[in-house]
Amino acid sequence: MSPCDACSKPGKCCRSFVLNFPSQPTMTPLEALSIMAAHWLPFMPLMRYQNGVFRFWCPLLGTDGRCTDYESRPDTCRVFRPASDPLCVMWEALPQIDVGIPKEAAA
Ligand code: SF4
Ligand code: SF4
Repeated sequence: MSPCDACSKPGKCCRSFVLNFPSQPTMTPLEALSIMAAHWLPFMPLMRYQNGVFRFWCPLLGTDGRCTDYESRPDTCRVFRPASDPLCVMWEALPQIDVGIPKEAAA
């Protein structure tokens, strides 16, 4: 059983997340979108912060909080471990889950 099966906010991790492009501090939302497309990533820029930091959302997230393309989801999504990052609601809620990554290392 995956921790996601007991998630209190399914899809929170896909609804709004930050990606950082420190080598491109002046990158525009259109450029960020182009980079996503070049890497076959469906993520859409939602908000631009300073120094190449963007908030994204994913249009493949279903209304039920589940991925609508789960079998073909990007590697970026496949390697994300529930509770391994503050992005996940399980980060603080279920510290007893052993996800193999010390929180200190994932922060
Ligand atoms: S990764 Fe975390 S936030 Fe995302 S669905 Fe799973 S438990 Fe919920
Ligand atoms: S492709 Fe699926 S798993 Fe990845 S962010 Fe989008 S909805 Fe979430």
